[in-house]
Amino acid sequence: MLDLPCEQRERLLVIRDPGNLAEILRRRYPQYDVTVTSTYLAGISALSDRPARGLLIGVDPAARRLEQAVAGLRKAAGDSSRLVLCCLPSGEPAARRALSAGADDYLICPPAGSELDQALAMPPALTARISEASLVPTPTWQEIAALAGVLAGLSSGRQAVLNQVSAMVAESLRTADVRIVVGDSTGCTGRPDAEPAIAEPITLSDGRTGQILIGPRQRQPFSAAEVERVRHFGRLLVHLLEAADRQKHWQELALTDEGTGLPNRRYLLQALEKLLRRAARERFSVTVLIFDVDGFKHFNDVYGHAAGDQVIRETGQLFRRCCRRHDIVARYAGDEFVVVFWDAEQPRVTGSKHPTDVLVVLRRFKRALSTHSFGRLGPEAVGRITISGGLASFPWDGATVQDLLERADQALLEAKRAGRDRIFLFGEEGRAVDDLSVDEPPDAAAAAD
Ligand code: GH3
Ligand code: MG
Repeated sequence: MLDLPCEQRERLLVIRDPGNLAEILRRRYPQYDVTVTSTYLAGISALSDRPARGLLIGVDPAARRLEQAVAGLRKAAGDSSRLVLCCLPSGEPAARRALSAGADDYLICPPAGSELDQALAMPPALTARISEASLVPTPTWQEIAALAGVLAGLSSGRQAVLNQVSAMVAESLRTADVRIVVGDSTGCTGRPDAEPAIAEPITLSDGRTGQILIGPRQRQPFSAAEVERVRHFGRLLVHLLEAADRQKHWQELALTDEGTGLPNRRYLLQALEKLLRRAARERFSVTVLIFDVDGFKHFNDVYGHAAGDQVIRETGQLFRRCCRRHDIVARYAGDEFVVVFWDAEQPRVTGSKHPTDVLVVLRRFKRALSTHSFGRLGPEAVGRITISGGLASFPWDGATVQDLLERADQALLEAKRAGRDRIFLFGEEGRAVDDLSVDEPPDAAAAAD
């Protein structure tokens, strides 16, 4: 804001200040020159030197001839000035009476900022800007850079936001002990158990609550400005947490298949890409299965599209329940699913190729499928759904996502051609995995989580 000399700035004149009104005005309207006179007469005389945009007239209920004084001030100020009577609660009847002598409004002291704005007819945009500017501490470049970092990482979720903001608060207050607790998540720096010197409550718009807790500072107690700073960090944190939640929500929508609730093709391709890079580094194997429901069109045609949807949903969920938690089961397209099996704890053994655990899971799934009762398939509810699938393993059958999926798809096509209801390993088509000799270990059920 341009800093004009006093005599060029518009003036607010306080006459017989009933409390600390002049101070409140100076803080709220720093662009105005606030002057004070102690008597009504001195006020009239001050107006003859220089006009005022607003007159705030303290009401002394014991004063005689108050109305005449107000009328005199109105005459001296002219019609364009706002005349506002300011009284303590006990002076309200006198203020109300004096309104008729030419005042525009009256206020009870100390007035709220918005009451002042209204009584003095301040333009709303200007007052909003001013009140914000006078309340918000100016961030440093380091804080702006840290905030940019938080915004860039919003998709990492709420925990990351809590960690980053606690580091920002610690840096800003030059203290080590900051703990931010929101629901059951905590972000902290330093010794989180210290008895807090500042505790700033925060409330998210969905009603969840939390606190920013600052431990005591050895060198120097916290100033009022620093306490205010923490309050602003609290407001900022609420915005950031809500933005992180929204980001997470959109991300989940973007990566989830609506029909089955399973990860979708987009998620699968991203996750597989990452997993293969890790598998190459840490030398473990990854096996990809593509499977497709046999004769699915029949169920659509006979029982309707909604029943077909349900078959897809139940088939996907059934597979999800048969494999281990870290395996990825994704809807790939239509009645086609992709499953990614991996096991970082078991480094691959030279010469060994068959993914033993995978075969166990597949057998379990085929068994579950043959006994599952599909809710909307009427007389064909049990044992009628079969699948065909193809398997390809990293690194033997392919080193990239595309290669692996292509090879698994070739094996799937071979399984379809060979009569369906079977799963082929790429390179060993002609022999269904059911025929491979794999004994189910006694604790196989536990492996499914
Ligand atoms: P195959 O044994 O060769 O797989 O025969 P199929 O009848 O299952 O043939 P295919 O897999 O090629 O057909 C899949 C059909 O699934 C084609 C499409 O009309 C139908 N479909 C694709 N997406 C959906 C879906 O979301 N819901 C339903 N109800 N049907 C779908
Ligand atoms: Mg099919």
